[in-house]
Amino acid sequence: MANAPMETIIENGRVIDPAAGLDGAFDIGISSGRITAVETSLKQNQALNRIDASGLLVIPGMIDTHAHVYQHVTGKFGLEADLVGVRSGVTTLIDQGGPSCMTIGGFRHFIAKRANSRVLAYISAYLVGGLEGHLYPELYGPGGVNVEHTVRVAKENPDLVKGVKAHAEIGGQSRWGLEVIKLGQEVAEGANLPLYIHLGQLWPTDDGSGYIPNAEELMEELIPVMKPGDILAHPFTRHPGGFVSANGDIHPILLEAVNERDILVDVGHGSHFSFAAARRIIEAGIFPDTLGADMHGYNVSVPNDDGDTAREANPFFGVAPFNLTIAMTELLHLGVSLDKIVAMVTSTPARVLGMRDEIGSLQPGMAADISVLKVETGRFRLSDNSGAIEICEQLLRPEFCLKSGVRHDADSVFIPEAYAA
Ligand SMILES: [Zn+2]
Repeated sequence: MANAPMETIIENGRVIDPAAGLDGAFDIGISSGRITAVETSLKQNQALNRIDASGLLVIPGMIDTHAHVYQHVTGKFGLEADLVGVRSGVTTLIDQGGPSCMTIGGFRHFIAKRANSRVLAYISAYLVGGLEGHLYPELYGPGGVNVEHTVRVAKENPDLVKGVKAHAEIGGQSRWGLEVIKLGQEVAEGANLPLYIHLGQLWPTDDGSGYIPNAEELMEELIPVMKPGDILAHPFTRHPGGFVSANGDIHPILLEAVNERDILVDVGHGSHFSFAAARRIIEAGIFPDTLGADMHGYNVSVPNDDGDTAREANPFFGVAPFNLTIAMTELLHLGVSLDKIVAMVTSTPARVLGMRDEIGSLQPGMAADISVLKVETGRFRLSDNSGAIEICEQLLRPEFCLKSGVRHDADSVFIPEAYAA
């Protein structure tokens, strides 16, 4: 088959494919939306289309494990899928808790079917789904969960629904303890899917009592509810109620959960990310498994948003510019190796999704989902929403991607500029 003509060959790039154990100069052949060859050279092969990736990094199509793309239906929260996806170099998006058992049909029809990006979802444990990022906590009480209905819908949509999303805060714990999380776990167990839990941002109730839940107590109650394979999000959060307690310690029950009980951790960058918390967590020996960007209408600047002042009242408001490749750049800056970072957006999320025969690697036979990035060198300014500014010397930027063999250039308005320092 060495001389069979191929539709597309991406050549001369540096390929990193953690699942295949590859890091080096390889050419990739593609036909009919599938990868057909990965060789040190495909120069002798004929191709309808050759793409020169000299000086570029070629990796399996990036998987953003924490997206919000139920545009229009979730208020200002949901972004246009392809601007976060293929037009940002990201081939697969997992919407975290936008659609619910009642609105998954709209999500399939209006979002997943129409997007050029591969769009999947962790179904919301709540009947209403993730409207405006849970701005109105009274919608998210125990009465707003229907376990039976949500399990049924998750089972009816296995191609789309890959997990269940619940919140350990945003006004939940302070009002109802962990009652809603426990119902979310019933949904996850009933559907045989992982439960993804948002941590951080302990809110007082608005009944005037001023009661704020205790982060340590929350953790002691929450972790035993989780089962192996479930996911805790926002380890690097600057908000109280996350991984780092007020005195700077990591709760021992968390260390045990992550290191011994196979509880997974997703960065869920968003407006939560802080360099200080990230350093503290990594030093303590907790390393996240996956790297969701968590971009939505309140933490990225959306074109034509005509200066809505209500944005700032949203609990997830943020101004520091970021996307998935900035989140990767920050980890590189924090000393994490590039192959480990690539695994966090390719092979590991593919495994968590149960899709490692299809995406997350460049082995022949897999979907031709490929991300091509540039590693720029120089001095660049990074910032977080706690006000920290850091200077990094390597900046990852998306150039283009192929989704099922079709090329999409990285021209999204959501790709932050490179800020020279
Ligand atoms: Zn989110």
